[in-house]
Amino acid sequence: MNQRMNCNQELDVIIIGGGPAGSTAATTLARAGRRVRVLEKCKFPRFHIGESLLPYNRTIFQELGVWDKVSTAGFMVKRGAQFWMGDGSRHNRLDFSKGGFTEFPESIQVERSKFDHILLDHSREAGVEVREQCAVLRHETDADGVTVAYRDAEGVEQTARAAFLIDASGLGNLTANSASLRDYHSGHRKIAIFSHFSEVDMPDGDEKGDIVIVRRENSWFWLIPLDETKTSVGLVMDNADFKALGRKPEEVFEDAVRSTPAVRMRFDKAEALGAPQVAVDFSYRNKSLVSPRVVRVGDAAGFIDPVFSSGVMLAMTSGRDGARAVDEALSAGMAMNSAMRRYEKRMWKNVGLYWRFIEKFYQLHFAQLFFQPVNKYRMVCAINSVLAGRTDLSFAICWRLNVFFLLARLNRHVPVVKRIPIG
Ligand SMILES: Cc1cc2nc3c(=O)[nH]c(=O)nc-3n(C[C@H](O)[C@H](O)[C@H](O)COP(=O)(O)OP(=O)(O)OC[C@H]3O[C@@H](n4cnc5c(N)ncnc54)[C@H](O)[C@@H]3O)c2cc1C
Repeated sequence: MNQRMNCNQELDVIIIGGGPAGSTAATTLARAGRRVRVLEKCKFPRFHIGESLLPYNRTIFQELGVWDKVSTAGFMVKRGAQFWMGDGSRHNRLDFSKGGFTEFPESIQVERSKFDHILLDHSREAGVEVREQCAVLRHETDADGVTVAYRDAEGVEQTARAAFLIDASGLGNLTANSASLRDYHSGHRKIAIFSHFSEVDMPDGDEKGDIVIVRRENSWFWLIPLDETKTSVGLVMDNADFKALGRKPEEVFEDAVRSTPAVRMRFDKAEALGAPQVAVDFSYRNKSLVSPRVVRVGDAAGFIDPVFSSGVMLAMTSGRDGARAVDEALSAGMAMNSAMRRYEKRMWKNVGLYWRFIEKFYQLHFAQLFFQPVNKYRMVCAINSVLAGRTDLSFAICWRLNVFFLLARLNRHVPVVKRIPIG
């Protein structure tokens, strides 16, 4: 157990937000013997989008000691990811059990209300003080610690004091927004329109539980089976394109379903289980993830397009790594240390890994290769491992990825694969 910082704070760490990043950070610190309080503005269970997980999430579940609870909660098992062209003419399936470099053969699809609740209750059991319906308003750092002002469940403004603050406020991005740290990735200001549906005709048999991603010309759909009858379906497109249409989100969504054969063929009997919801303005990254006494984790560090379902895995990884850095700083009695800077570097490296795929997914020459994969030199296995959530890439994986990206670049000028229409 780590030595506690010798100071007069009532708490070692305050965490803003009880989503996957916040609860992972909280459990990690509580298990290291720290006094932790989570301030969460909602009452759990609460709805959240982001329902398809990656096999490598398993590593963190095991480290947190929550794997038994997650694996017996009845979530849909996910064995693969299918990428379809919008016209339905072609698709490519990543089977995690055949990844070669991928250690875990499967993952899960989750209703976030239930999943996030399991993680937050697990933090409580680890000794974290969780206060729900407490919205953080602002914070102030000084030489000895940080003071946080929040509105409690009765609407009364309160303050709390700790040695460190971890911001896990998700897209709310509280501390970074107040310091104007947000940088949008140019060309990636997106909107997502989504809902849950019954009776969507999803893959069955060995492919049951697969996520289906459908690529359209400049947008894409996700279809995520949550249980035997319920499927999450969402459309992601450029916000500028959406605004130019001048139509309501539900109209744009319905039109897109009708004009996309690969989705339409699954929608014969589908019925919406609720009104469509909308999320706007991603992807971004904050200019800095650490400053004296403050660390940002999860979406509050940065957010990337969800096409490869990397959000929860990256959020939990950064929650764990950010918490470990804070634990080291507490032991050293420092407001900022090299562990925090190393955390920042690692987080950007992990995000960069996905960003490389995401940016290219929207480009024709890459998509043509992606939809006609050749497993020469086990290049597809290398891609499989990254898209399964692996971030510690061996040389064997890295050089294969580099060859794949080189071929995709070449394909822009010289046909490396057959020219096929994408959309
Ligand atoms: C359209 C869309 C589709 C996605 N699909 C996927 C997917 O399929 N798979 C995947 O892995 N990821 C997906 N993601 C990403 C995923 O949702 C996020 O990466 C993940 O939820 C990040 O976790 P987090 O803990 O950082 O933030 P969150 O899960 O957002 O949690 C933040 C918490 O902080 C609380 N909070 C916010 N402000 C305050 C405040 N001021 N005071 C107190 N509490 C506060 C919120 O109530 C919330 O509970 C998707 C995202 C979007 C937008």
